Amino acid sequence: MKHKARLWEKLDNEIIQCHVCAQECKVAPGNVGMCRTRKNIDGEFYTLIYGSLISKGSLDPIEKKPLYNYWSGHTAYSIASIGCSFRCRNCQNWSISQATPNENGNEGHYEFEDYKDRKMSLVEMSPEDLVKRVVNSGAKTLAYTYNEPLIWHEWIIDTASLLNKEDIKTILVTNGFSTPEASKELIDVGIGAANIDIKGMTDEFYKKICGAPSVQPVLDTAKRFKNNGIHVEITNLIIPDWNDQEGDIKKLCNWVSDNLGNDTPLHFSAYHPDYKQPSNKRTPFQTLDMAYNIAKETGLHYPYVGNLRHDKGNNSYCPNCGELIIERSGFNLSTINITDDKKCKNCFYNLEKHFIGEIKRSSGSRFSFF
Ligand code: SF4
Ligand code: SF4
Repeated sequence: MKHKARLWEKLDNEIIQCHVCAQECKVAPGNVGMCRTRKNIDGEFYTLIYGSLISKGSLDPIEKKPLYNYWSGHTAYSIASIGCSFRCRNCQNWSISQATPNENGNEGHYEFEDYKDRKMSLVEMSPEDLVKRVVNSGAKTLAYTYNEPLIWHEWIIDTASLLNKEDIKTILVTNGFSTPEASKELIDVGIGAANIDIKGMTDEFYKKICGAPSVQPVLDTAKRFKNNGIHVEITNLIIPDWNDQEGDIKKLCNWVSDNLGNDTPLHFSAYHPDYKQPSNKRTPFQTLDMAYNIAKETGLHYPYVGNLRHDKGNNSYCPNCGELIIERSGFNLSTINITDDKKCKNCFYNLEKHFIGEIKRSSGSRFSFF
């Protein structure tokens, strides 16, 4: 639904500059920004997707976000809207990320040829309704996920503050293309965790694959979140012929180690051709295995491999003695060698700062759609 936007300023000629994400769009009256969800209406700026959801939500394992070191084994109530500040050529969620809302925010449509007559209905919800649903579901965490949450800023600020009062942790699964002002509001409202995509380490990658000018705002957001108490995990999707060279992986691992610390989980994820298919190859096992080994050699304690089976890359090992501390089978935890007070069962190394929140020891089935 339409709702007055935060973080914008008026320039000359009724043009509005938005500061919600690092695209910093300048929007003329009657137009929308790059995300298609923020509109200049007669010199005032509005989000069109406040409380506009693609469904009432779904329950997912938190490991699916992916978050492996945060409320492990728990369920994340997952919600999404439409739109995105990027145009990733590989987007697996393009049917929502590249949709455009109508001005009431109750319907989405597409602007590409061949899709112009397709429409999708959006569910409208109030912040209070959402909180009731999450509480009733029993989930201890809520994830803003699937499309880009940073463009959902007002809805996130309003709902996260209510969810915090119910002791429900909030999670952003994000491209990290934030601004200092928007990050500050997210930090101040008490976002609990973020999985941030670092898609590549060069501006060229961001320009050619994502339609964004630079990687720097993403790196700045990751540092800002980490330094201000948000639990941060990083995801890197490895696309053959684009960001799959040893040098690309080393640069990323060194940056994470130097700027976020070796306790920061780094998920390497396998690509499969989707949407505009920047590569027509799947990421081979050997590339993910190389990435895993480079991360370990760099000193990172928690490298992970996603979307592909890898004998070590789905598990967590004690950074002190190397013992297996959490074994994962799919999204479930099959072995947990961490004591209730978060010590390694083998060497009693304190893992309290590495595994945040309660570890659920019987995770069972955690998928449900409604
Ligand atoms: S949220 Fe980002 S993409 Fe959307 S209008 Fe604002 S600056 Fe542009
Ligand atoms: S940032 Fe994520 S949701 Fe947005 S276009 Fe890229 S892959 Fe899709």
